[in-house]
Amino acid sequence: MKIVWEPSIYVGNAPVFCTLCGQRSYPVRNQQNQFLLAVIYNDRGVALGEACRDCVAVGTAGIHSRLQERIQSLEAKVAELRTFAEAEIQTPSLEQEFQVHRSNIS
Ligand SMILES: [Zn+2]
Repeated sequence: MKIVWEPSIYVGNAPVFCTLCGQRSYPVRNQQNQFLLAVIYNDRGVALGEACRDCVAVGTAGIHSRLQERIQSLEAKVAELRTFAEAEIQTPSLEQEFQVHRSNIS
């Protein structure tokens, strides 16, 4: 994986989501008034997304530990969703739905 600063392909100061940590990230404005983004490429030169300034700043080792943390947190989330999927699901009764609609109107 290779990270390169490049002019943003998006309009203006539009934020992106960091592919590594998931945080919202804004482009950096350089001295030529260009918006730059840190673009992530794989070994074959295919763009995989953008990295935030924080991820770029922590360097290779920092990115590795951030990825490990994110993987663990996503795996915990997946495990939680699996328990939801295995459980019996009861949605509100029709009577409750009607009550919600009535209280919304008044
Ligand atoms: Zn990041």
